[in-house]
Amino acid sequence: MKSVAVIGAGITGLTAAFRLQQKNIPVTVYEASQRVGGVIQSIREDGFLAECGPNTLLETSPKITELIRDLGLEDRKRYTDERATERFIVRRGKPIVMSDSKLGFFKTPLFSIGAKLRLFAEPFIRRAPACCEESLEQFVLRRLGREFLDYAINPFVAGVYAGNPAKLSVKHAFPKLHALEQKYGSLIIGQFLGARERKRSGEVSKQNAPKVSFDEGLQVLTEELRVKLGECVQLNSPVTEITQTSGDWTVKYLSNGQEQQREHEAVLFTSPIYKLGDVKLETAHKFDLSPLERIEYPPVASIVMGFRRADVEHACQGFGALIPEVEKFNILGVIFSSALFPNRAPKDHVTITCYAGGSRNPDLARADRSTLRRLVLEDLKRLLGVRGEPVFENYFVYPKAIPQYQVGYGKNKALMDEIEAKAHGFFMAGHYRDGIALGDSILSGDHAAEKISTHLFEHHISQKLNHIATA
Ligand SMILES: Cc1cc2nc3c(=O)[nH]c(=O)nc-3n(C[C@H](O)[C@H](O)[C@H](O)COP(=O)(O)OP(=O)(O)OC[C@H]3O[C@@H](n4cnc5c(N)ncnc54)[C@H](O)[C@@H]3O)c2cc1C
Repeated sequence: MKSVAVIGAGITGLTAAFRLQQKNIPVTVYEASQRVGGVIQSIREDGFLAECGPNTLLETSPKITELIRDLGLEDRKRYTDERATERFIVRRGKPIVMSDSKLGFFKTPLFSIGAKLRLFAEPFIRRAPACCEESLEQFVLRRLGREFLDYAINPFVAGVYAGNPAKLSVKHAFPKLHALEQKYGSLIIGQFLGARERKRSGEVSKQNAPKVSFDEGLQVLTEELRVKLGECVQLNSPVTEITQTSGDWTVKYLSNGQEQQREHEAVLFTSPIYKLGDVKLETAHKFDLSPLERIEYPPVASIVMGFRRADVEHACQGFGALIPEVEKFNILGVIFSSALFPNRAPKDHVTITCYAGGSRNPDLARADRSTLRRLVLEDLKRLLGVRGEPVFENYFVYPKAIPQYQVGYGKNKALMDEIEAKAHGFFMAGHYRDGIALGDSILSGDHAAEKISTHLFEHHISQKLNHIATA
């Protein structure tokens, strides 16, 4: 049996390959770079632990728990410190605690009385027609008002997508929010009723899901996947061409600068979707792939700094602080990394992770190191009362970080569905299709493995039937 080609060794590709291997289906994982993990990268230095990419994995589904268990990583799994639950949003230059409780919400200085009272009208606002695709901004202005857009949604979207609410599609970027309105006619009523349904299915909302990492950061997960997969992972092997042949697939890739090729029964594409511009995809049915190549991925700089505890005025206890655009800071927000996982800083020190750039300020992510450093330190001084110089610094720039599910994304998803339906044996999974969170990518890889295994089973049956018919 020829192997399944998995293109990309980020969390999606590794999860899919691991699940296929568990079903005794041979796989070959092609990875362009010299390491596995994709955007996941954890660096331990001088007692500090820096996450360049994601900081936490939300355990929203039993399938995520199962993957960690199947890899034998339960002992190394770490939940965020139970004292680090508070989230802050910046208003008038200061971080203000966002309260989870209803009473706390009505007391918070984060929103004006007018904005709070506006919420009572929310259940009476008519739902949008199911056919029309709104931007997140239009949706929030219609249901919750301007202040919620500026001080809740705008910073939240910067923290999750590094994106712009005026461009993101509520239906595709926040499908659960859209579904709440469509199903219950109200976000507030849907919050209560939806919780009961999730309880029945065993799923947990992203808001309430436990946040997980590992003793040495999230890279532990992808490294363990690589170990379990063994020899089938080929590093430094960028795929350059994928061609559908009669019933099979030929994958061309570079190895030590030399072009090589191999036959496969199926192909799973998990690289960032704009990479389709570099990889020549030849299928029996022709597709216009240009809309997929044009999907926007804004740049993001991740800056991790360690300070002496005594040099930071703010307690930095909690998850972190998100910064609304109207507050005019340089950075998008901060994560209190060593409050979440105390082993991320030596004793009497704190580790703070900052993100800059995104759709809000793409040029800042591309700025030179000294400009970025100066602007980040200016912000940390103003926001958290940081005095003195960092004793640890780690910079990482993702020139194309996170795909933006903008208004019209439905057409991209429909095109992906069409490709899979017509180019038999070609599958697509990852952050560009099933959600941008790390957990979404694990579920996407898991689901792709199921689809591929069903496809191979049907393919073999039909081959056998053909053989019998022609014998
Ligand atoms: C800065 C940042 C912070 C984030 N924070 C969080 C967070 O805290 N929590 C959370 O849930 N999510 C977070 N995310 C999102 C989450 O990390 C990603 O969505 C997820 O890890 C994507 O995994 P993937 O495997 O789909 O893609 P990727 O990680 O992009 O992997 C794709 C792989 O394909 C390879 N590749 C590319 N071209 C080729 C080719 N031609 N041939 C072979 N291989 C190729 C790449 O080298 C890469 O290894 C964050 C993302 C970023 C960028």
